[in-house]
Amino acid sequence: MNEQDCIFCKIAAGQIPSDRVFEDDVCVAFNDITPQAPTHILLIPREHVDSLDKAAGVQKEMLGHLLLTAAEIARDKGFADDGYRVVVNTNADGGQTVFHLHVHLLAGRPFVFPPG
Ligand code: AMP
Ligand code: ZN
Repeated sequence: MNEQDCIFCKIAAGQIPSDRVFEDDVCVAFNDITPQAPTHILLIPREHVDSLDKAAGVQKEMLGHLLLTAAEIARDKGFADDGYRVVVNTNADGGQTVFHLHVHLLAGRPFVFPPG
């Protein structure tokens, strides 16, 4: 994936608008444009990485940061106690459609397991 053509790189850079809920030096979190639950937030690293499959040891801190930030957003928004789901779709069978690593944070309804 060419970073210049990457929609999530453009969102991180502010070149494409998004409904941001959180941002810091490492990541940006914004509402999914096609929500699959009452709350559906995407967390993306500012750094372009195609997928979890392409992440390497040097991204260990960034990956941990994404998960901890998801948990922090869940607490801040008040749905941590009820519960939520964190998903990282990876490659074709995983259902990944945007090839810039992202974490889905879903909440506001019960989720079944395993997912479809
Ligand atoms: P995935 O299928 O795991 O790659 O997830 C990609 C997600 O990005 C989907 O849930 C889309 O609805 C979402 N998405 C795509 N374009 C945008 C956008 N411009 N703003 C917000 N969310 C988007
Ligand atoms: Zn990107």
